[in-house]
Amino acid sequence: MAESLTNGHVPNGLGNGDAQPNAASERAQIINDAKEWTQELTPQISRWGLQDAGFDYDIVSVFGSQSTGKSTLLNRLFGTNFDVMDESKRQQTTKGIWMCRDKSMNIMVMDVEGTDGRERGEDQDFERKSALFSLASSEVLIVNLWEHQVGLYQGANMGLLKTVFEVNLGLFGKKTADGRNPRTLLLFVIRDHIGTTPLANLEATLTADMQKIWESLAKPDELKDRQLSDYFDLSFSALPHKILAADKFEQSVADLRKRFSDKSRDDYVFKPAYHKRIPADGVAFYMEGIWEQVQTNKDLDLPTQQELLAQFRCDEISAGALAEFIEQAKPQRKPIEAGKVVGNLGSMMRAWRSGALARYDQNASRYHQGVYKRKRADLIAALDSTLSPLFLGQIKNLHKASLSSFKQEMLEGLRGEGYNFADIVNAAREKWEKAFVDGAKEALVEEADWSYEEEFGLLNSEMKSVADQCRKDETKKMVNAIERNFKRQIAEPVELSLNKPSLKMWDGILKSFRELVDKAESSYSTKAQSFNCTDEENATALTALRKRAWLALRAKIDEQTADQSFLAKLRTHFEERFRYDESGVPRVWTPQDDIDGAFKKAKDETLELIPLYSKILPTDPSLAYTLPSETSDSLTADADEFDFPSTLVVFSETKAVELSNRFRKDADAYFVEAKRSTVSSIAQ
Ligand code: GDP
Ligand code: MG
Repeated sequence: MAESLTNGHVPNGLGNGDAQPNAASERAQIINDAKEWTQELTPQISRWGLQDAGFDYDIVSVFGSQSTGKSTLLNRLFGTNFDVMDESKRQQTTKGIWMCRDKSMNIMVMDVEGTDGRERGEDQDFERKSALFSLASSEVLIVNLWEHQVGLYQGANMGLLKTVFEVNLGLFGKKTADGRNPRTLLLFVIRDHIGTTPLANLEATLTADMQKIWESLAKPDELKDRQLSDYFDLSFSALPHKILAADKFEQSVADLRKRFSDKSRDDYVFKPAYHKRIPADGVAFYMEGIWEQVQTNKDLDLPTQQELLAQFRCDEISAGALAEFIEQAKPQRKPIEAGKVVGNLGSMMRAWRSGALARYDQNASRYHQGVYKRKRADLIAALDSTLSPLFLGQIKNLHKASLSSFKQEMLEGLRGEGYNFADIVNAAREKWEKAFVDGAKEALVEEADWSYEEEFGLLNSEMKSVADQCRKDETKKMVNAIERNFKRQIAEPVELSLNKPSLKMWDGILKSFRELVDKAESSYSTKAQSFNCTDEENATALTALRKRAWLALRAKIDEQTADQSFLAKLRTHFEERFRYDESGVPRVWTPQDDIDGAFKKAKDETLELIPLYSKILPTDPSLAYTLPSETSDSLTADADEFDFPSTLVVFSETKAVELSNRFRKDADAYFVEAKRSTVSSIAQ
């Protein structure tokens, strides 16, 4: 394997036949030489194609002295391209923490690049911080050391390890939010293992060293009794000399790789207990938080860190889901505000809503459950408060549309002949109430706390008042029609009777009047049955009908007894008695005739008619018709005073005197004419 393969920053084919897309072999400097977080990790995780990996990824890092072949090991093991010290050039590498992706597995590999830290205090700080960071953020920490360093406290960097353990316990030692102990695998890799000391012996030495270190740690009070085994598993591996036993080295590395890839092996390194349970798309933010804590040594622990991360990410994911949702909902707002009923609004709203929640759940559910759930409730509230105006607008529009369709359909139904008012109103109401309820139900989002009852109540009462108004109008029309018909029918009997004066004249007229009023009333009642009118409304209509009938009768009587036509009636009556004899033959007066007597008789008989006509008064008292005086016609808005007894008077007494005087003059003329006719006959 040529050194150049691991030397450059340029992605390459790694020489092992695993063709990788360029992005997969890219590396990111996540902490720069100024100990700053670089923001490179998030975009790099995307380019590695791990953004959507969820929990399906692992993180490994390495710890050990300078130039112990750490980067070389990582590159061999994972096909990464971390910088390797080139002995011949003494090439300076770029300080910082680097990350690469495994050539084929979802493994993120971290390497620390420092200068030889023993010389300057400043670099010890970086060394310690980077070691703490590696330990706190990885599932597996490879502790890399030469075989000859085993058992040497200083040489094997055990002092540093002690410090790192101490700070790590203080900062991140408490239980995680889901009640687990943070747990890490320390994988000791012994380099340049010659083989004279069996691995088992080296293991024992290292395990004892670790135990000693753990016991010497200054632990926080509440973690005083915690054991090394509460936080760490120890595992071991030895590699032959890379140059002296090149083939065996490569073989051992290949074997070691299997411990990272083969989940079925007992010594598979990535046990679930080590996983930090941070979704891949949140790893960068999570690590940044750890780095910040390491840098500032803030006394924060991982659960809080996880919650902060969850808040940040859940807010972001929620905002994304909400924005898309609002875009979807937007086009429906205008038509609803303009009063339209939008078809399938409910199914659209449900789809937008569940889509937004699914988008949120997919990415946010992996985060701290408490935060995830809280933010989900917030998101639901935001979704529903966006949908609520659409729902309210929709049911308001449904209300308007149903009401106007109801009105239209009712009026159309009433245009026909022989309808049953109640049937038409009920059918239209049922149909359009159902249309409203169906539409409102469709628009409901079950999970939301919405209701259309109130709007439905309003619709009901408006439909009722529209129907009531319509019924009143129809009733009025019907009463008017009955009145017109009545007027036509009453004319003839009144004319006939008044032209043939007799004592029983009013009896006849009132009899006809009663018959016709009864007919009108029963005609009303028959038709009104389908109107569902109240008793009070029926009573009002009938009262109006009776009053109008009476006034119609009076109008006809007034017409027949107007001065000229009444005087004509008197003249006719007089003439029939004075100018014709009993058998209807015209009289020719002779001087022997008692003209004076005949004249007086005819005149008196005629004058008797005036009191007969002057008052509506039947001879049979049972035929007398009465209306209560306060009778009003509430179908028209007439507020005229109505005094029934005065409507019985056809002529006042003064009028009667005036009429008899006028008649007398007419009669006198007939008398003079009769006298003259005898004189002329004598003269002949
Ligand atoms: P690191 O940066 O400290 O992790 O070490 P490097 O990977 O940069 O290697 C430092 C030097 O050690 C380089 O010259 C490598 O060629 C050499 N080297 C790498 N692996 C081994 C090994 O297994 N045994 C020996 N003896 N030298 C090695
Ligand atoms: Mg290195």
